[in-house]
Amino acid sequence: MQSVVGSIRNLNWSYRDKPLFTNVSTDFPSGAFISIIGPNGSGKTTLLRHFLRILPSPKGTIILPDGDLQDYQQIDLAKHISYVPQQSRLEYDFTVYECIAMGRYAHGGRFSTLTNDDHLLITKAMEAMELTQLEKRLATELSGGEYQRMLIARALAQQSSVILLDEPVSHLDVHNQREILSLLRCLVEQKITTVVCVLHDLNAVSAFSDLVIMMDSGKIVAEGSVEEVLTKERIEEVYKVSVELHYTSPSKPPLVMPKWR
Ligand code: ADP
Repeated sequence: MQSVVGSIRNLNWSYRDKPLFTNVSTDFPSGAFISIIGPNGSGKTTLLRHFLRILPSPKGTIILPDGDLQDYQQIDLAKHISYVPQQSRLEYDFTVYECIAMGRYAHGGRFSTLTNDDHLLITKAMEAMELTQLEKRLATELSGGEYQRMLIARALAQQSSVILLDEPVSHLDVHNQREILSLLRCLVEQKITTVVCVLHDLNAVSAFSDLVIMMDSGKIVAEGSVEEVLTKERIEEVYKVSVELHYTSPSKPPLVMPKWR
C-alpha cells in the first residue's frame, strides 16, 4: 500500500449555520505533487486549514503518519507540515536569511540559537530556491516571485514531510509561475518533500501534477491523474466555461483552452 502524508476521513464542516463539507474524505500520497483545484469558494482553503489545525476538526477525521492530528504536539506538527499561505507579506525589516531561518524554529524553539546544522539547512534551502544572491536583501524589497521563493525556502528549511501551498503563483507572471512550480516539482522528484498545492491555472496543473483533487461546492468531485480528472466534460460542468483540450503528443498531458468568446 502506498504511504500517505495524511488522510481526511468523513470531515463535516459548516461556517456558522452554512454547511460546506459533508463526509469529505481523501488521501495525500507521499512523494507526490498533489494539486487541489476548483472554482472560488469550493472549499480548497478550508480543506488546507483543517489539515493545519487552524480550523477545528473532530478526532478521527484527520490522520497523519504518527496518529490523529488532534493528538500532535505543535512542534511535531511543524516538523510534519509546513505552510505557504496565500499572498502574505511581512512588513518587518527582516533579511531573506532571517526569514528563512524562521523555518528552523520549528525544530529548536523560537528563542533558541541556530546551530551549525541549522545554518547549513538554511543555506541549502536558499540554494534550492535560487536565493543565494539575495540573502542579505530585506524581505520588504523583494519582487513577488522572489518573495514567494523565500516563503518556499522557509518551508523547506522547516524540513517537513509535506509543504501545503495556497495559490502560490496566482499573482505572478507566467515566467515566475513556471520557475516556482518547476522548483517545487524538483523537490518532489528529489524526494525532498511532498507538495500539496492549491492552483487555478489548469495548464500548470496539467504540466506538474501527479494527482489532482477537484472540488466543487464543498465536495471532492474527482481525484486521480491529470488525464482522469481534467476531462472536457468535467471542466465545463465545474467551471461553467466551454473548453477544448489539445494533445500535443500522446505522452504529454493535455493543454486546456478556455473559449473566451
Ligand atoms: P476556496 O479556497 O475554494 O476559494 P474557501 O475554502 O475559501 O474556498 O471557502 C469556501 C466557502 O466557505 C465559501 O463559500 C466561503 O465564502 C466560505 N467561507 C470561507 N471562510 C469563511 C469564514 N471565515 N466564515 C464564513 N464563511 C467562510
